[in-house]
Amino acid sequence: NGKTEGRNCIRFFSPEMDEAFKQRLELESVIRDASANERFVLYYQPVFEIRDGRLVGFEALLRLPRPDGSMMPPATFIPMIEEMRLIDKVGIWALREACRAAMTWPRSLTVAVNLSSSQFEMKSISHMVETVLTETGLEPHRLELEITESLLLRNNDHTTEELGKLKEMGVAIVMDDFGTGYSSLSYLWQFPFDKIKIDRSFMQGYEDSAGDVETVVRAIIALGRELHKRVTVEGVETAKQVDFLYDANADQVQGFFFGRPAPATDVASIIQEHLAV
Ligand code: C2E
Ligand code: MG
Ligand code: MG
Ligand code: MG
Repeated sequence: NGKTEGRNCIRFFSPEMDEAFKQRLELESVIRDASANERFVLYYQPVFEIRDGRLVGFEALLRLPRPDGSMMPPATFIPMIEEMRLIDKVGIWALREACRAAMTWPRSLTVAVNLSSSQFEMKSISHMVETVLTETGLEPHRLELEITESLLLRNNDHTTEELGKLKEMGVAIVMDDFGTGYSSLSYLWQFPFDKIKIDRSFMQGYEDSAGDVETVVRAIIALGRELHKRVTVEGVETAKQVDFLYDANADQVQGFFFGRPAPATDVASIIQEHLAV
């Protein structure tokens, strides 16, 4: 009966909640320590031009090393970094680190850095970016900033102004995870994107959608083309997907099929492999 179940529930859940709470505290202290001592790590995933297979650059992806040396993916800790109000600090670190890395690459290659929407709450993110570019010497046109719809959902004058300033500086603005949100289509004309990145869920659904995903992706690519935006597709995992995207006239591709996110120490050899004549 209900009463017994209720008691069982309490007995059953209490230790678990304690455990969850303990884990959360542990993660918080790992995060605090990592941001105080710059112990985060960036992985880099290559991006390719689909028509000629040329390596165009890398996307920088944040990782948090666990005590055992394995890497924690951002989905588990970025929300917490935001809650802990450390995102500005970590965000600046990531941008600086990515720009520094790109300075060691051939000048034809770009670097893409993800920005969290809460980073736009700082006084002037464009000023922060400008400072990092000056400090590292990276040419603005080599930097791409990836933002998601959550930023545009709280559409305000400040955001628009900051995006405008970034564009004026020559930095490219990318709409990440395109197609997953609420009303991404209107953002295509409300904000001055240079590129859209079709979310990886489209490629995940591609094989077993009986052609529906194909139709939608073709339409997004055509739309991007009409609006003079470059279109990247992320999460590309199979040769079949590549063939389709080639046929559908996508501009750029990124995914496990071409290369997983790799530590900075692997980047030189990836570059060599792809830029060698
Ligand atoms: P995102 O920017 O959309 O990054 C692409 C994600 O897809 C990465 O996950 C990447 O590892 C994964 N991915 C790439 N190719 C494939 C593939 O072929 N198959 C599959 N299944 N996945 C693939 P990751 O590294 O776990 O990053 C997750 C998200 O965390 C990113 O999504 C981005 O929104 C956020 N993030 C990463 N680094 C940063 C950062 O420095 N700052 C901020 N604010 N957010 C970041
Ligand atoms: Mg991204
Ligand atoms: Mg994405
Ligand atoms: Mg994402």
